[in-house]
Amino acid sequence: MLVLVVNCGSSSLKYQVRELEADADGGTVLTSGVIENIGSSQVEDHTQALELLARRLEDELDGRTVDAAGHRVVHGGERFSAPVLATNEIIRDIERLVPLAPLHNPAAVLGLRAVQRTWPQLPQVCVFDTAFHRTMPEHVWRYAVPEGFYERWGIRRYGFHGTSHDWVTEQAAQFLGVPRERFSCVVAHLGNGASVTAVKDGASYDTSMGYTPLAGLVMGTRTGDLDPSVVTAVLRRDGQMTPERLDDVLNKESGLRAIAGSHDMRAVREAAERGDERAGLALEMAAYRLAKYVGGYHVAVDGAQALVFTAGIGENDAAFRKQVCDRLGALGIRLDDDANAPRSREIRRISAPDSAIEVLVVPTDEEQAIAAATAALVAGGRPGA
Ligand code: AMP
Repeated sequence: MLVLVVNCGSSSLKYQVRELEADADGGTVLTSGVIENIGSSQVEDHTQALELLARRLEDELDGRTVDAAGHRVVHGGERFSAPVLATNEIIRDIERLVPLAPLHNPAAVLGLRAVQRTWPQLPQVCVFDTAFHRTMPEHVWRYAVPEGFYERWGIRRYGFHGTSHDWVTEQAAQFLGVPRERFSCVVAHLGNGASVTAVKDGASYDTSMGYTPLAGLVMGTRTGDLDPSVVTAVLRRDGQMTPERLDDVLNKESGLRAIAGSHDMRAVREAAERGDERAGLALEMAAYRLAKYVGGYHVAVDGAQALVFTAGIGENDAAFRKQVCDRLGALGIRLDDDANAPRSREIRRISAPDSAIEVLVVPTDEEQAIAAATAALVAGGRPGA
């Protein structure tokens, strides 16, 4: 089966076509690319982007056609707890969630409709970033705020990066030979956006992102956890500041960027190694925040069997992993420096034999996860297919 994986942004469309055998994990990549500048004179809108993509795929796939499309959808709200086949009603439901994800869900809806227009018969599957976290218990997803906030505006914790956390949990359980339903771990997805999830008996129990992806860890350009009074104080004190502008500051001009002057971990690490104190401080802040979460989540899941690092920083930055794990001696975590140092695309154990908790590096692959979920649903949804 050929699956087209689509990740639509407001001005770009990333795609991948993967070939999957029945029951395969995610198959092999046949082609991938990105269509940029949507909304410009070159590419007017998402419909035109899809027409462009259809022409490209004819060439790139040598006339073979795709059998299904899987879309990354950021927000599934309380409505979606698993991938679903897209119907008109489902697409309308995703549209209703736009107030919760005003930057992301509109693009997903445009992408779904554009694929529908281009290939009307093609089965489409929506895979939600929030879905994995629908298992969080109520005392975890609630904020201690007046009930109207939740009832009128859906203000609660949702969590994000779920496709990655779910995928990485599965890979880690298989690697360790533990049945997933008896596997508890802490997964640190450390990319430009970063979040950490407490997985209890194979399911999400708690996660560091909240109502939006702003909460939790110190990220490339996001603050992570912040006293909400900072928001009201700045709005009150700075006469020029608007909620929209402050949203931008907290999401795009904070985190590593605010402290070290770059959002890019490689640049921050290089600067720290040259002796730049602000870069060193930024790394300490990020490592400390993560270690604090890992300690909390170890308790939350009644003892994690593993700490799992993934995504750009988690997979590649051995020094950051060490910095975090050095703070976790109280949990009995010990790294094996020789296992931690080398770069690899393979899943691997980096803890010492006497570590109380296994420490793993598991490469994430959200496209592969989306392709696998799409194939499973399409094959299951069409008996005999
Ligand atoms: P992602 O969003 O998963 O693509 O991750 C992006 C982040 O990973 C950026 O902060 C990169 O600087 C960081 N990253 C990628 N490769 C490395 C590396 N070799 N060492 C340190 N950070 C890296």
